[in-house]
This record gives sequence, structure tokens and C-alpha cells, in this order.
Amino acid sequence: MEKGEAKSKKAGGPPRLCCICNERRPVLKRPKTLQQICRECFYEVFEEEIHQVIVKNRLFKSGERVAIGASGGKDSTVLAYVLSELNRRHSYGLDLFLLSIDEGITGYRDDSLETVKRNELQYGLPLQILSYKDLYGWTMDDIVKMIGLKNNCTFCGVFRRQALDRGAALLKVDKLVTGHNADDIAETVLLNILRGDIARYVYIYLFLIMLSLGYIMIHTYAYFKKLDYFSTECIYSPNAYRGFAREFIKDLERLRPRAILDIIKSGEDFRIATTTKMPEQGTCERCGYISSQKWCKACVLLEGLNRGLPKMGIGRARGGVNGGDHKKETKAGSTVKSLESKQCGSLDF
Ligand code: SF4
Repeated sequence: MEKGEAKSKKAGGPPRLCCICNERRPVLKRPKTLQQICRECFYEVFEEEIHQVIVKNRLFKSGERVAIGASGGKDSTVLAYVLSELNRRHSYGLDLFLLSIDEGITGYRDDSLETVKRNELQYGLPLQILSYKDLYGWTMDDIVKMIGLKNNCTFCGVFRRQALDRGAALLKVDKLVTGHNADDIAETVLLNILRGDIARYVYIYLFLIMLSLGYIMIHTYAYFKKLDYFSTECIYSPNAYRGFAREFIKDLERLRPRAILDIIKSGEDFRIATTTKMPEQGTCERCGYISSQKWCKACVLLEGLNRGLPKMGIGRARGGVNGGDHKKETKAGSTVKSLESKQCGSLDF
């Protein structure tokens, strides 16, 4: 017997009903409104919220090819499932694909990719997998062997961002979408502020499909729908810096439940002074990928690895290929319009 129902019975009243349909028993409290709602109404609210974000922001046009960054994790699996459902239900007219990156992490990515392969069949979406080994000649296992567990996520994040763009170009898609929950976004807002990373700051707010859906909502949806996802953390996690932001946000949320949404809103309202000099977009002399420097960040990191000097492209040490200042790169003008991209820590793309 549900807690609420037991209370009502004790009080002699009828069992409590869903605040939306007023017919079925509630199974959860909606964090945003604190309404008690039933499973069916929860699905409806959840899917409708994503549909509204898509419609209001005009994220897609009919006939577009769209790649969904799929890691096999909860967020990207929910995104793939919901987007394919909405595409059918509302006739968006999109050609959807799954795009996965194999970082070469034994005991983690190999297992999660098995989940994505099952999702390919379950949702009927064609899957493209690109590996670091094929693109860069290195797996994350090799990189960690060389550099240890410090800065490994920097290599992985830079390589993944470029790999996703390359995968999107290969699939000839118009847009690339990645799934994130509100908690991830708030962490990223905070990290970008702490790092003073203005370039990323601008691009993170393009459009975020799951912006207002918190971790709990996504987790509950995946659980109730019995979606097939992989939930183990990367063996090379945690990214200590992101872990700090996560803990801090969780503390804030305990004091003020809306803290996560408020941080995201602050990020949206943030304006960069017109006098601020932003990095200029060019192309990498080495690989042709977008870059604000002579060489893109991935090429600098790769050069360091190949020369046995992995620290070459990290931090602000002078003397690197690009003059050593390692100014932030911009994602502007990427081959496809990426709706989000970030280094994952232990998260999805
Ligand atoms: Fe890569 Fe994420 Fe693992 Fe870091 S935690 S090594 S970014 S998969």
C-alpha cells in the first residue's frame, strides 16, 4: 500500500488520486510542481515537455537528417527513445541515426556499445560507430597507460567532440543532438564560469533538449519504461573538477530545490560584453578541423602523445605548437549544428 493511500485510509478518506487525471493512483511527485501524478500522466508530461522544447525553439525542420549521440547511458537512451517516438507521433519528418564513439575503454565502453547495438534494433535507428583507435591511432586504454589518471578526461573530451563532428559529417546529418539532464547542464554552467571559458559558454546554450528535465525525472522515465541502458560509470572516472561542481550543486539543491534550474537560467541570461575579444574561427593546418589556432586541440594533444610528451597540449604551459597559450577553441562553424557537446566526466556525451 502506498504511503499516501495508507494515510488517507487511516484518516477515513478515499485513496489519493493523480492530480492530473484524477483517476489513477499517483506513483511519484513531480519535482517541478510537487504534484502527485500517476505513471501514464508522468509519461505524457515528460514527453510533452520535450516536444514543447523542440517546437518552441524550432529545433528541427522536416526532411532533416539528425544524429543522436548514443553512449548507451540513461540520458542518451531516453533521448533516442523519446525522439524516435515524437518523430513518429508528431510527424517531424526527421531521418534519425544513432552515432556512437568508441573511446577504447575495456570493461566500460565495449559493454555500453553492446547496449547501443541492441537499441539500434529496438528503435529501428541505423547506428554508426567511430573509434578513437581508427581516428587517432590511440585508445583511451593506451592513453591512460601513458599519462595515468590525471588529465585523461581532457584527452577524451577533446577527441570525443571532434569524433562526434566527424561522425556527423560521415552520416551527412544536418544536426547532432546529445542527451543531458538538468543536473549535468548546471554543472557545466558552473564549470565554465569557474574556468572563465567564454567560448564554451556561448555555445552551450544553443538548444538543449532535456534542459528542464532533472536527473530524477530521466532516471524514473527510463526505469518505468524499462528502457535498455547501461549504468556503469567509466573506469577512468571521476573527473575531480567536475565532481567538485557536482557536490557543490547537490548541497545547494538540498537548501533550495530549484537551485539547478536557477543556475541554468543564470547561464541563459549571461551576456558577454561586446568588447570581449572572442577566438576567431579558422581551420587546423594539420587536419582541417575547425580551430582558432594553427593546430586544433586534438592535433596538439595527439602530437604530444606521439612524441611521448603528453603534457604538451595540456594547461597553459608555453612553448607548444600553437605558441603555447592554448586559448580556448570555439565550436562555431562546426560542420553540423551541434545542439550540445561537452566533456563527459562520468556522464553521457
Ligand atoms: Fe572519457 Fe568520460 Fe571516461 Fe573521462 S570519464 S575517460 S571523459 S569516458
